Amino acid sequence: MFNFNLLALILCCTFVKIWTYHPMYTGTNQVRVGALFESQHEAISLAFQNAVTEVHVESNSVPAIIYDMEILTPDKSFQAQNKLCLQMKRRNGIAAVFGRASETSQSHMKLLCDTTQIPFIETSWKARDSRATFAINLYPVNEELSKAFADIVKYWDWKIFTVIYEDGNGLIRLQKVLEIPGGDEYKMTIREFEAPQHNSDKALENLLADMKEKKEYRIIIDCHVTRIPKFLEKADSMGMLSGYYHFHFTSLDFTQIHLEPYMYKGANITSMRLIDPSNPALKSLTSDWTTKEIIYGKSPMLGSKFIGTESALMYDAVHIFAHALRNLSRARPVSTESLNCHKREKWSNGTSLLNYMKTSTYHGLSGEIKFEDGQRQGFRLGITSLSVHGLTEIGSWNTNTGINITSFSVIQKIFDDRERLRNTTLRVVTVYDPPYVMNLSEPNEHGRMHEGFIIDLLDELSYILGFNYTIYEQVDRQYGSEITPGKWNGMIGDLMSRDNTKKADIAAAGLSITYARARVVDFSMPFLSLGITIIYKKPVISPPDLFSFLLPLSPDVWIYMVAAYLCVSFMMFIIARFTPYEWENPHPCNSESEEVENVFTILNCLWFAIGSLMQQGSDIAPKASSTRCVASIWYLFTLIIVSSYTANLAAFLTKSRMDAPIKNADDLSLQSEIKYGTLSSGSTRDFFKNAEMPVYKRMNAFMTANGDKVFVKSNAEGFKKVKASQNYAFLSESTSIDYQVQRNCDLMQIGDLLDSKGYGLASPKDSPWIKYISKEIVNLQQQQVISKLYKKWWVEKSNTVCEDDNADDQQTSALGVGNLGGVFLVLAGGSIFALFVAILEFLWKAGRTARKQNASFLTEVKNGLYFIFVECTSSRNMGDENSSVDECEVNKNSLQKTPKITNGNFCKDAAD
Ligand code: GLU
Repeated sequence: MFNFNLLALILCCTFVKIWTYHPMYTGTNQVRVGALFESQHEAISLAFQNAVTEVHVESNSVPAIIYDMEILTPDKSFQAQNKLCLQMKRRNGIAAVFGRASETSQSHMKLLCDTTQIPFIETSWKARDSRATFAINLYPVNEELSKAFADIVKYWDWKIFTVIYEDGNGLIRLQKVLEIPGGDEYKMTIREFEAPQHNSDKALENLLADMKEKKEYRIIIDCHVTRIPKFLEKADSMGMLSGYYHFHFTSLDFTQIHLEPYMYKGANITSMRLIDPSNPALKSLTSDWTTKEIIYGKSPMLGSKFIGTESALMYDAVHIFAHALRNLSRARPVSTESLNCHKREKWSNGTSLLNYMKTSTYHGLSGEIKFEDGQRQGFRLGITSLSVHGLTEIGSWNTNTGINITSFSVIQKIFDDRERLRNTTLRVVTVYDPPYVMNLSEPNEHGRMHEGFIIDLLDELSYILGFNYTIYEQVDRQYGSEITPGKWNGMIGDLMSRDNTKKADIAAAGLSITYARARVVDFSMPFLSLGITIIYKKPVISPPDLFSFLLPLSPDVWIYMVAAYLCVSFMMFIIARFTPYEWENPHPCNSESEEVENVFTILNCLWFAIGSLMQQGSDIAPKASSTRCVASIWYLFTLIIVSSYTANLAAFLTKSRMDAPIKNADDLSLQSEIKYGTLSSGSTRDFFKNAEMPVYKRMNAFMTANGDKVFVKSNAEGFKKVKASQNYAFLSESTSIDYQVQRNCDLMQIGDLLDSKGYGLASPKDSPWIKYISKEIVNLQQQQVISKLYKKWWVEKSNTVCEDDNADDQQTSALGVGNLGGVFLVLAGGSIFALFVAILEFLWKAGRTARKQNASFLTEVKNGLYFIFVECTSSRNMGDENSSVDECEVNKNSLQKTPKITNGNFCKDAAD
């Protein structure tokens, strides 16, 4: 079937070709321009020719633009100058010069244009050239461009970074980046990317190897776009395109690089671009030129998928020129004239034409174009980043607002990283240690060579996040300590050294999160909480103690009890003396008897108190309120003490008590018979090394002094050492100790936790994965998956059930003053109260007797006291040694002192 579309396309393109490749097109009103391009800038020259044709076809513009094309030999400035002179002189001369040549040739041409006042239109990067006044450049002005590069470095907050430049121009382009470091926290390394003629693969390899060795992960590279593919290829082969690296290329043509092989590598690869591929005009031009290339084999695309920056700028330059020419020709007729450049002849319309160009604002393929002083200002750069979807625009930069990263791009980045993780095989470093990771001699039921808590956790994470992983054991089987400043061993060392042989993406083991480690690697959220504690062999059962009946009460309590017994007995004696109601007529049948007696002698008091304490009672019974008060309080005291003693004694006698010689870290630190130690390189060792508390300092000094004898290479060795003898205690982490204690009934944990920390997965600093792993760990914790795994590996997998003798231990500790102090206080209070009551009774009686006898109250009190403390004591019936009462002959003793038988009445009344 005949394809009309194809026919139309061919006709159209043939038509365009006629215009394009007829540089000497002549019309009635024509303006000729000079076009001088060096051979290596073919794409730009083709863009120029296409643009001229297009301008003519599009606007049928009057005056028409025709051009004299000259292809220059690179770096031949004299040739360039001569050819330009010829163009100026030929026929009617030229109205402008479009050129792209090497730096010196272009400078010569510009100077010539300055002299003849013919505008020179250029589209390539230049450090500001103040001498050329008749030049106009569409390429962004260097100061602005350099500022854009510096802004992006500041936006990413790079404090330590590397600048790679190719030549002196590169350093000028990066001038503002070089000015960034403004303090100690900055470290900038400047490296030269040797010029291509010197560059062998080896030089590039050395450059990259050195950067890798020195851990330079943030790199800004200024080199020609043609050198970037080699750079990326080498970096990739050296494993430098992993997620830890960020490369920013300053080339505005980065879009032209074939980046597919690096999309999933993980490295941050960014750049900026002036030409926005989503611009509709650019899109249609690209497809136009691509079609042309297919049909004629040649177009400004030159095989690339994207239009080069300079080609697009040349295209825009032709349009701006046409625009200005049209405007000028509307104002006055524009004609060119033949000029002799050696005679310094000038073109009269040059200044006006240049001014029209400089003052116009134009929207072209490179966005809005405006000039200041002949330099392009106020442009927009798109910021691009390589993602799994190719090079995507994540934001923009412009002169006024600076960097603007769109939120979409952030979301896109997160999505990209997760996407990348899904396709990644992570290398996991571990240390075999049950129950975290165990290496099996033959595959388990799932065909796996490893199992354990950590393996299950990794399986959960890999299922959710979609990554695969391979496991290897750290060569030294160490967790990681800082051996010399900045140099770490063990798993931490493996994470830090990103060299290919021991490169690990994740460290997964019972790895503690510590501050020092968190400074050099990234940790996930903790998945287990733990602390340092002591594991020790359970002591053998001690032989029964002859005096174990004393154990239920602490020695303090025993001493206080004896003291209380003596005090109460004495108190009873005093109170019984005071109170008149304890003085009795010993001959109840003879109410006239002058004798009174008090049963509470000091010995009786002691007997009464001991009798009630032993719960045997005595024949002596208090009668007065005060003595009864003391007696009640004492009964209460004995009740509590005896019941507490009995209860505790039962527990003591039934227990097969084991006496641990150490009960906590303090005990351990105060003795030297039992040796103790830690893992030789790990967080527990570091804890003691850095400890400030005197106990831990003391322990560290002990361990350091005993060195090899107490430190072990692995937890397993430590536990074995503990099992072997009663003379070694191992300081390790509660989770590992818990696992051992559940399986070895002869081991026990001693004391509380000395610190508190967590286990986490670790990754090299700035790893792109750890945040996703962290998030999922929190999720697994919330869903109680981690606690189920803990139960599985710690409890369910254990076939041993040990008797819990911890509970016994708690019940059988001796009762101390802390437990029973209250009852002593009650006893003291009660006794004082009783004394107070006794005094009241005494005073009450003295008052009553005084009233009866018509004597004064004070005299009665005095006589009463005399009777109690002097007469009754001195007149005790000493003849009867065994008498258990104090007896007084009232009238005889009293009459000697006072004519009234006051005392006698006092006692007698009381006896009544
Ligand atoms: N979990 C420790 C670490 O990460 C190892 C065991 C220990 O030091 O007790 O270093």
